[in-house]
Amino acid sequence: MSVSEKTGCGTIGFHDTGRTVQLAGWVDARRDHGDLLFIHLRDWSGIIQVVFQEAAAKELFAMAETLREEFCIRVTGNVVGRLAGTENPALSTGEVEVTASALEILSRADQLPFPISEKAMIAGAAVSAPASVAEDLRLQYRYLDLRRPSMQNNLKKRHRMIKKARDILDEHGFVEVETPGLTRSTPEGARDYIVPSRVHEGAFYALPQSPQLFKQLLMVAGTERYYQVARCFRDEDLRPNRQPEFTQLDIEAAFIDEDFIYFLMEEIICRMFGEAGVALPRPFPKISHADAIARTGTDRPDLRFGMYFVHATDIFSDTSYTIFRQIVRRDGHIIGINVKGCSEALSKNVLQNEYARQIVPGFGGKGMTWMRMTDGKLDSNIVQFFSQAEQEAVIDRFGCEDGDVLMIIADPSYEVTTRVLGQLRLHVANRLELIPEDTWAPVWVTDFPLFDPLEDGGMTSTHHPFTAPDRTDFDPSDPADLLSLKSRAYDIVINGEELGGGSIRINDARVQEKIFSALGLSRNEAAEKFGFFLRALAYGAPPHGGIALGIDRMVAMALGVSSIRDVMAFPKNRSAYCPLTRAPAYVSREQLDELGLFKAAQAEKDLRADDKSTVDNLSWLSRIGISDGERGSVENAVRRAEEIGKSVLSVSCENPPAFSPIRLENRTRPGKTPSVHPASAGGTLLSNAPETSGDFFKVAGIIE
Ligand code: ASP
Repeated sequence: MSVSEKTGCGTIGFHDTGRTVQLAGWVDARRDHGDLLFIHLRDWSGIIQVVFQEAAAKELFAMAETLREEFCIRVTGNVVGRLAGTENPALSTGEVEVTASALEILSRADQLPFPISEKAMIAGAAVSAPASVAEDLRLQYRYLDLRRPSMQNNLKKRHRMIKKARDILDEHGFVEVETPGLTRSTPEGARDYIVPSRVHEGAFYALPQSPQLFKQLLMVAGTERYYQVARCFRDEDLRPNRQPEFTQLDIEAAFIDEDFIYFLMEEIICRMFGEAGVALPRPFPKISHADAIARTGTDRPDLRFGMYFVHATDIFSDTSYTIFRQIVRRDGHIIGINVKGCSEALSKNVLQNEYARQIVPGFGGKGMTWMRMTDGKLDSNIVQFFSQAEQEAVIDRFGCEDGDVLMIIADPSYEVTTRVLGQLRLHVANRLELIPEDTWAPVWVTDFPLFDPLEDGGMTSTHHPFTAPDRTDFDPSDPADLLSLKSRAYDIVINGEELGGGSIRINDARVQEKIFSALGLSRNEAAEKFGFFLRALAYGAPPHGGIALGIDRMVAMALGVSSIRDVMAFPKNRSAYCPLTRAPAYVSREQLDELGLFKAAQAEKDLRADDKSTVDNLSWLSRIGISDGERGSVENAVRRAEEIGKSVLSVSCENPPAFSPIRLENRTRPGKTPSVHPASAGGTLLSNAPETSGDFFKVAGIIE
């Protein structure tokens, strides 16, 4: 059968009735009726039912009876309409079936580690949910897991979305340029994956956290519009929806401004989501970082539902409720949300015992104040402490109506108040299912602070150090001046998830140097790490800016898939491990040696040995602790051993010396009775020694 003769299983329909078709694919499921055998034949276009009839062809039927799930087969047959009442609406081809006239088994399959079929053969029957299969098992047999139509669909949709982005970028004159995988560190704020160089012993490449520096160098190089579907590597703390390597749609352009980026990206994002059947509302609104925090407590605001923050500090400036009064005196903040019409779901018990006592402290808050509106009045365990005027002001400010519940956080720190209330807002919205389904709320977050203060008094870049500040006349040694700077950065957030971000960049070497100095890098350190980049900025670097979108996250969101691993062909598991290839894996000592790493480790050991006495060194090597009381006798023993060793060396004779110059005997510490370990008696001792030579285990010299 040539490729052109193969009919896609999923493409067959009623219009094909009477046709002879050649099919090839996998046995998705089988149903044996004695003299009739049905199979679902699956290829990546879909599934069709194939029927084998014993009466029609005995030999063919006998072969068909040997078919098992996931055998790879070729079938020739006739398309016929199904008998009324036997149609399967779960299949797009469910009105027809193929009566087989020939069968070839191309490849058999072992017993499957888990079921693959997602389609029941009988309309309405249940199929075992793949979700119940342990994810590590799915990843170990990923080639089987990917056979599932839902996974193939994810891969196909991902391809369509990326292709759409490539088409649009091409229409706008962008070219895809590949940048190196083996490079120097790029400061995106994570740890690097590093790769030792064999040729330059002792030196390391870093895998790129992003192509940031190269795409900026391409701008200096006159490549005015660059993009790349780029693999990025970040060694970050494990989180469920994080992968050590992930894909970005990375974009950079010269002679542009923020509006160009907003326009281009909205076009790309909307059309990419469109490929997955999602219509995003356009244009995307913008919210400043400060507003996002003030209204939702996060720089990733979820705008699908209201419940925005209500600031109420001023209402309580003179209150007799002690907790609030003290917080106001300490320049603190009192901010709340109005959970409209939910007083039935949020009983006093839930508010007091769950939220105030457990959930809010779990978010890092000290507590929560709540009030409910009943019969036009506020009601709570502390409402009696509030004056009439305060209560009226609260009702007015929060827009209270009967059935509303107010949840209020008060804390001396603005950061704590907003962060805790932000988490609370999301918790309540999820718990009470207040987030409308099929709603999309994209938003640009802008006007970020350029720097975030560090606990040690230093600064770190909110985005990365190449982001342009809103003004360049700042003093890099003045923390207050630095913290007042805003950046020309923008993040794209959809439904509370950050899908990407970027900025207009610094294109002046002197400003870039000032930023490095503000970050605490000395001139020498900056020259050592980024000298090549600073030099490039000094050769007519054009104004430029860009952005990167996290493709895995975006595809997962558009397809409504909760895990990014389900839209990646071969992801690592939640522990950054690949159950299929079993990476990362240990390498041989020879490989380490070749890379100079074994020697490096040895040099490190030698260095440590130099700092120590022979006794300490022996104790360290043998992993045997030597107490102060034992020290004297161990030192004597070591001295005697050294003397014997020296005297043996000084003896010249024809015969080589015996292997051990001193008599070997077992020694145990005083007060301990010698015993034989069961592992030694059974011969398993040392059986897992890393190396063997002939019939011997190689063990560390110290044990010998
Ligand atoms: N390189 C940045 C990142 O990976 C994106 C950008 O600034 O273009 O987040």
